Amino acid sequence: MKYISTRGSAPALEFEDVLLAGLARDGGLYVPEIWPTLSRETIASLAGRPFPEVAVEVITPFTGGAFTQEELLGMARDAYATFGHPAVTPLVQIGTNLWILELFHGPTLAFKDVAMQLLARLMDHVLKRRGQRATIVGATSGDTGGAAIEAFRGSAAVDVVILYPSGRVSDVQRRMMTTPREPNVHAVAIEGTFDDCQALVKGMFNDHAFRDRMHLAGVNSINWARIVAQLTYYFAAAVALGAPHRPVSFAVPTGNFGDIFAGYVARRMGLPIERLVIGSNVNDILPRTVATGVYEKRGVTPTTSPSMDIEVSSNFERYLFEAQGRDSALIRAQMAALAQSGRFEVKGGPELLTRDFAAASATEAEVADAIRRVWEVSGYTIEPHTACGLIAAERCLPPGPVPQIVLATAHPAKFPDAMEAILGERPGLPPRLSSLMTDEERTSLLPNDLAAVESFVEERARAGAERLA
Ligand SMILES: *Cc1c(COP(=O)(O)O)cnc(C)c1O
Repeated sequence: MKYISTRGSAPALEFEDVLLAGLARDGGLYVPEIWPTLSRETIASLAGRPFPEVAVEVITPFTGGAFTQEELLGMARDAYATFGHPAVTPLVQIGTNLWILELFHGPTLAFKDVAMQLLARLMDHVLKRRGQRATIVGATSGDTGGAAIEAFRGSAAVDVVILYPSGRVSDVQRRMMTTPREPNVHAVAIEGTFDDCQALVKGMFNDHAFRDRMHLAGVNSINWARIVAQLTYYFAAAVALGAPHRPVSFAVPTGNFGDIFAGYVARRMGLPIERLVIGSNVNDILPRTVATGVYEKRGVTPTTSPSMDIEVSSNFERYLFEAQGRDSALIRAQMAALAQSGRFEVKGGPELLTRDFAAASATEAEVADAIRRVWEVSGYTIEPHTACGLIAAERCLPPGPVPQIVLATAHPAKFPDAMEAILGERPGLPPRLSSLMTDEERTSLLPNDLAAVESFVEERARAGAERLA
C-alpha cells in the first residue's frame, strides 16, 4: 500500500514512513493510492468482537504488511487497556434512535486518546526496529497535546514538544500537558491562536534542514495513522447498531476535520453511513463551505468548545483531493489562494459537498440549552463539543428510522467551568485523575515566532539525544 501527497510532488511512501512523516515534503497530506474496502461479510463479522480485534480488522488493509497480525493485536490490546471502560468506546442511548458514542474513556478524557495510544505504540515499534529516534512537534487546540504527551511520556525513542495557544485551553487541558514529569515531554505556551500554533508546526516541517536534523515526526490529525485509528469506533458503533444490515448516521463535532474524515473513509470502505453530519460552534467555516461552496476565513471567536475554535481545517485538504478528482494542481492553487486572500472555491460547489456531508453550527446559547435539555430529558451529561454534534444531528435528521450516533468527543469533567455555568454543578474528575489539579506544572512561554520555537526544540531534543546516548 503506497501513499501519495495531495500536492502531487512529494515521493510516494509506505505506511511506516507515512507514520513517521506527518506532513508531506511538498506541504501536502498523504492519502492512500487506492482505497481498500471491506466486504459486507467482513463488516458483519465485526459484531460483538472485542475492540482491539475490530481495530486490527479495519487497520490492517492500510498498513501494507508493516506489522504482523499478532504484533498489531498486541499493540491494540495494550493501547486500549489504558481505557477506563471494557467496551473502550461504549454507546449510550439518550433518545429514540439517538445514541451517544462515548469516546472519552482514555487517559486524557477526550477522543484523541483512541488514536494516540495506538499511534505511540506503532511509532515506538517502527523506531525500535530501525534503531532510530524521533522528535514529535505538534500543535494543540487543547486535547491533542495532552493525548500526545500522555501516550509518549517516558518513551526512549521519542521526544515530544507540544505548542498550545496561551490562555485558550482549559485548566484541565493545560494540566494534562504540564504535569507529566518525564523529561522527554514539553508543553509550550505560544502567544497566539491555535492556527498560529499549527502554522508554526507547518513551518518547522517545511524547513527541510531542520526537519531532517531533528527527525521530526508529526502526531496532529494530519498524521495518516491517526485517521486510520479513528476508523475503529465508526465500525464498532455501526455494527453494534445493525450495520451492515441497516445503515446508521453519525454526527461529529468537527474542528480540524480529522474525525469526520475518518467517517468519510469508513463510508468509502463500505460501511453503510446514511448521513455524515458536521457539527461546529460559531466558528462555522465548514457549514458555510458546505452551504456555499466557498471556503472563507473570517477570524476565530473563542467558545466553550475550544477544540473546535479553528478555521484552517487541515484534513479538509484530503477530502478536497478525493472529491475534486485527485487534482493536485487544483489543490495547490486553492491552498495558495487561501494563504493569499483567505478564501477559495470548491470545484463542484455545494452540490458536491452536500452529497457527502450535512452540516450545522451552534451558538453558545444553543449549546447551553442542548446540555440542559439532555440532562432534563435523559439524565445524561454532555459537554459543549458533544452538544455541537448533537445540535447538528437534530438539524440534519436522516430520512427514515436510521440510528443517529453523536460522537461524544470529551468527558464533561474536562470543561468544568463551562459545565458549572450551564448546569450549576462542577462535574468531578474520575478518581484516577484525582491529583491532576494539585500536581506541579512545568511549561514555557514563547512568542509566535518560528526561529524562537525551532531553537527551543533544538535544545530540548538534543537533551533527548544525550539521554539516549
Ligand atoms: C479535537 C477535538 C475535536 C475536533 O476533532 P477534529 O478531528 O479536529 O475535527 C472535537 N472535540 C474535542 C473534544 C476535541 O478534542
